[in-house]
Amino acid sequence: MMIPLLIEKLRSVLPEDRSFIALHEPNFQGHEWDYVKECLDTGWVSSVGKYVDLFEVRLAEFTGVSHAVAVVNGTAALHISLLLLGVEAGDEVLMPTLTFIATANAVSYCGAIPHFVDSEERALGLDPHKLDAYLAEIADVRADGCYNKQTGRRIKAVVPMHTFGHPVDLDPLVDLCERYKLELVEDAAESLGSYYKGKHTGGFGRIAALSFNGNKVITTGGGGAILTNDPELAKRAKHLTTTAKVPHKWEYHHDAIGYNYRLPNLNAALGCAQLEQLPGFLQQKRALAKRYQEALQDLPGLTFFTEPDFATSNYWLNAVVLDEAQAAMRDEILAVTNEVGIMTRPFWTGMHKLPMFAHCPKMDLRTAESLERRTFNIPSSSNL
Ligand SMILES: *Cc1c(COP(=O)(O)O)cnc(C)c1O
Repeated sequence: MMIPLLIEKLRSVLPEDRSFIALHEPNFQGHEWDYVKECLDTGWVSSVGKYVDLFEVRLAEFTGVSHAVAVVNGTAALHISLLLLGVEAGDEVLMPTLTFIATANAVSYCGAIPHFVDSEERALGLDPHKLDAYLAEIADVRADGCYNKQTGRRIKAVVPMHTFGHPVDLDPLVDLCERYKLELVEDAAESLGSYYKGKHTGGFGRIAALSFNGNKVITTGGGGAILTNDPELAKRAKHLTTTAKVPHKWEYHHDAIGYNYRLPNLNAALGCAQLEQLPGFLQQKRALAKRYQEALQDLPGLTFFTEPDFATSNYWLNAVVLDEAQAAMRDEILAVTNEVGIMTRPFWTGMHKLPMFAHCPKMDLRTAESLERRTFNIPSSSNL
């Protein structure tokens, strides 16, 4: 494959007047200044305020999930989601090996053990059919849950992650979770604005996590949210993330070991302004993906990754997948593109290869290992 030709094609899509194009930049074109200034003017910058409440209401409206609880980041949202569904120390939690570190860290914060699952080429996320065949071999379903015959540990939950905003095939996964008595926790950190068969991601299990980190589709600087259709879970999520304080005008009474995971009003103000622009961002991102797809379609040796047929994706990060025969070129492509000011990034390193997770249980991971070698991300900001 000709790297200069690839760069020429990328340049044909990207703005000409910039010497450096980032992978994903925040875009502040709306009421950000007004809302943040109001927090400063009124003094409501911290743990309570109208923007926190408003952000939660608007998030629930947008996603179609009945409750949203704003928290300090996406990792915290995952941590609390797992705790609320009963993930305990010594449990195993199934997750894709190809994910951002936060997914595996959140499981570890519960004292639980990540159990790594292979990916599916069509969606880049975990492969529900391969997982099903694997569980048929290793799982022992008892009255009180699913057990791993090889380790003796309980397998409590599965955490699919919608990679770069592309939903995993959720129907077979939901079905598998019922048969194996597994809780489904969606890591929807990357998929705000992505739909599976017409329904927004984050509403397929009992609970899900969103992230509003600086590089996500919308940002609060740092932030996250827990989504759930269960009012009781929402109440407990709010309680646990706000130090488990029992409401009282002046007394400090806490009824559990809680967490200081609340999203400051200042950040929620930013979030409200960003959420107003989300439909526009999504249009721009899908249009950018379409332009990439057209520009790259005739290049031999690579495929611009497009949404699976069951999904409408937010195209959070655009991705290029090299053919197996071209995989050896990836590092040179990364070096040359970054050199000329077009920022590119490889796929995450598989979690099973990291020192702290190398001992964790895993299935055959050949598709994930292949995708990891062949995939890279290209500039994806909504303002391109
Ligand atoms: C961004 C992200 C998170 C959460 O990250 P925070 O920085 O803690 O908000 C979790 N999982 C995935 C897959 C992510 O991309």
